[in-house]
Amino acid sequence: MSRTTMHPHTDLQINGKPVPSRSGSRFPVTDPATGEVIAMVADGTSADAMAAVDAASAAARAWAATAPRERARVLLNAFDLMTERAEEIARLISRENGKAMPDARGEVAYAAEFFRWYGEEAVRALGSVAMAPGGANRIMVLHQPVGVCLLVTPWNFPAAMATRKLGPALAAGCTAILKPASATPLTALAIGDILNEAGVPPGVVNVVPSRSSGAVVSAMLHDARVRKLSFTGSTEVGRKLLHEAADNVVNTSMELGGNAPFLVFADADLDAAVDGAMIAKMRNGGSACTAANRFYVEASVADAFSRRLAERMAALRVGPGTDEDSEVGPLVNEETVDKVDTLVRRAVEDGARVLTGGSRPERTGCYYTPTVLTEVPSDAAILREEIFGPVAPVVTFETEDEAVRAANDTEYGLIAYVYTGDLARGLRVGEALEAGMVGLNRGVVSDPAAPFGGVKQSGIGREGGHDGLLDYMEQKYLAVQW
Ligand code: NAP
Repeated sequence: MSRTTMHPHTDLQINGKPVPSRSGSRFPVTDPATGEVIAMVADGTSADAMAAVDAASAAARAWAATAPRERARVLLNAFDLMTERAEEIARLISRENGKAMPDARGEVAYAAEFFRWYGEEAVRALGSVAMAPGGANRIMVLHQPVGVCLLVTPWNFPAAMATRKLGPALAAGCTAILKPASATPLTALAIGDILNEAGVPPGVVNVVPSRSSGAVVSAMLHDARVRKLSFTGSTEVGRKLLHEAADNVVNTSMELGGNAPFLVFADADLDAAVDGAMIAKMRNGGSACTAANRFYVEASVADAFSRRLAERMAALRVGPGTDEDSEVGPLVNEETVDKVDTLVRRAVEDGARVLTGGSRPERTGCYYTPTVLTEVPSDAAILREEIFGPVAPVVTFETEDEAVRAANDTEYGLIAYVYTGDLARGLRVGEALEAGMVGLNRGVVSDPAAPFGGVKQSGIGREGGHDGLLDYMEQKYLAVQW
């Protein structure tokens, strides 16, 4: 590793200490820009996962009873530590995930904000007291921590997806086992170290990387002490885990896949729309659940919009994420590059036109050239599947109704983007779109203070905002006579 890269330990983190896996086995973490193995990480087994549940369970009562102000102090310490080490953590993310340094720096700042926001929210788990309508008694409602939480995160935002769960879980008084993606365990271990240093007591946060995710997660989900699953990842795996969670009726929050439509009306400021499109499409090189996946552009401005988007995409510098010059890093692995390439080829076979890109660049590493496609047939697979790469398919529309219908024609419902100069139209279309979040004249919506999440098959529950805290709490109703 380069000298400026952080060195988190490469063991599991259980009960506040690094421990090797019981099997003694380790798995490689590779740099997708070079294929180089950058670390060998302990490969957690089901027995290790049970040890983590033991630790989280033993620590649960004391942490739930810790004063909210003290939990807040620990989270604010974690915010300070993460902010101090932002550059090192960004480099670590870029190394194991491949994303370009500007994206990695943005992720660290965003991730740290979840510690700050939930440090501020920890003291605000307010309940209520009301007179029962019949007048005989009071209705008292308390918020109490759910208990031991299992947090499963993806590789595309290895820091932010972990802190977006750990922040509210800790603020609510829950203990946790974090199971990071096997492609990116080092960032999760670094965050575990930061929380230890910030003053999280042993057992409150445990980190169990594993290459046997299915078995390890299943073992924990079937332990009656685990009371919550918060999962971020694909809809396919989320659906499977919902089935498994049903066995013990585990409280679940699901942040799943997306297929975000990006609508541009003829009355939009086209410069702003192209700027927004570049952010919505290219943040994280297109590997984001919020990535604009389908562009619907009103026919009269479609040529101008597509041409300008293609010019901006073609000008992007593609290269290793850790090179300061790179604006687009590699995709996470070869399989993802093949999937993106197949979607593009099939769209072209079906009649789409390539304005820029359309193939892999001539360099080694898991790269794909930023691509803009126009004249994409409305039934093309590329409009139905999550692309997760730097490809923008453009489709034209004539009427607002047609645009909304096309945008809603998907099983996903995470986010949608609308560009228009007419505020009434923007609000009307915003209400009609089947999505948990809408960016109105904005290409990015993520904010720790706002409720992030999807409808339809994009998820259940919200992360961020005050609701994100309540997702880790149960309501208790006391019928009180006094
Ligand atoms: P994934 O394959 O679903 O994996 C997510 C996590 O689940 C990883 O930790 C993975 O471990 C684990 N996992 C995989 N198979 C499992 C199984 N059978 N049982 C239990 N755990 C299992 O997703 P990904 O490829 O890492 O991430 C990309 C997906 O995440 C995209 O669909 C994206 O839209 C979605 N995402 C959604 C949001 C949101 O907020 N809605 C945010 C970011 C990403 P391994 O790594 O070991 O396989």
